[in-house]
Amino acid sequence: MSLSQADILRALELVKLPASGQSLAASGRVADILIDGGKVIFAIGIDATEANAMEPVRKAAESAVGGLPGVTQVLVGLTADKAPPSAGMQARQQAHRPGPGGAPPKPAGVPGVKQIIAVASGKGGVGKSTTAANLAVALSTLGLRVGVLDSDIYGPSMPKIFGITGKPQIVSGRTLAPLEAYGLKVMSIGFLVDEETPMIWRGPMVISAITQMLREVAWGELDVLVVDMPPGTGDAQLTMAQQVPLAGAVIVSTPQDLALLDARRGVAMFRKVAVPILGLVENMSYFVCPECGHRSDIFAHGGARHEAERLGVPFLGEIPLAMPIRETSDGGRPIVASDPQSAHAKAYVALARQVQAALGGAVRAAPRIVIE
Ligand code: ADP
Repeated sequence: MSLSQADILRALELVKLPASGQSLAASGRVADILIDGGKVIFAIGIDATEANAMEPVRKAAESAVGGLPGVTQVLVGLTADKAPPSAGMQARQQAHRPGPGGAPPKPAGVPGVKQIIAVASGKGGVGKSTTAANLAVALSTLGLRVGVLDSDIYGPSMPKIFGITGKPQIVSGRTLAPLEAYGLKVMSIGFLVDEETPMIWRGPMVISAITQMLREVAWGELDVLVVDMPPGTGDAQLTMAQQVPLAGAVIVSTPQDLALLDARRGVAMFRKVAVPILGLVENMSYFVCPECGHRSDIFAHGGARHEAERLGVPFLGEIPLAMPIRETSDGGRPIVASDPQSAHAKAYVALARQVQAALGGAVRAAPRIVIE
């Protein structure tokens, strides 16, 4: 028997609002109910100032709907139509523990995960996801235990880049097992929602979805979790940069001036929320002719290096514009995994070494037992 909106609302009659005692179903706050097989996604409308008070209601709604026969997954977001007083304010309200001495509060860490880094870009299409995926594989070739969280919920790329199509299994309660590819643990909203399913994400829902993917996934023990951020530097990204306990951010830019301007915004965004900038990467930096090996700096390469200097952030390296990078990335076989001896793969490994160094001694490979 397939689920209907009426079934969902019936389950939500049992969830009461703390202030009025009214049922959530009767409150008129439930919106955007989306049913896709056994998956149920909906939003609860709130006033931005109620975020904390309504979190238990969100949880109760998830368990009520999760208990319905036929429901395999539930994702409920709190959504405020009116913007909160400021993204920063909202994040402060939702932060898990205050920082010492009046410093901006830091969100709680994820148990078992030593370091979380963001890969971000000021705009889409600069190769952020390709860089995040290859950087993740490269970090694992350095002996680290690595996970990838695809938080680009508007355009999740990791299922395609890693060539993974499965669905995450529930390991216990609400906790999902990440999928695995090339020795990495990978989680993406793309695994939960079919590509064809139209999704209307609103700011706070984005944060809820990402927080769930971060905290309700059995990541196990990881040295580094690489978060592929949604492109851009809007409020959602800013709030996310605050909600995820980031050890640092890598900013990907192409050499063109316009992209660098966006990269500058990215740097400013992370600075605003006191996340250390691990550095800037120049992607599609130069072109090496596959026929003759001649190198052309088609976009006046080197812009990102100068920009990094100007901004006082480290420059992490250059990745060439190369057909094999595109083909492998679009074909589900990131080049660092599929052709580790290639010069392109080595460029990503060099980048990974820089990132590891920038993170300091915190991420060192644990001794591994290799059985041959
Ligand atoms: P973003 O995440 O910034 O939107 P993607 O990683 O999805 O960007 O990359 C956009 C397109 O560019 C993809 O088709 C990808 O394969 C390609 N691409 C990314 N980096 C490179 C590169 N260094 N050389 C060639 N193609 C690349």
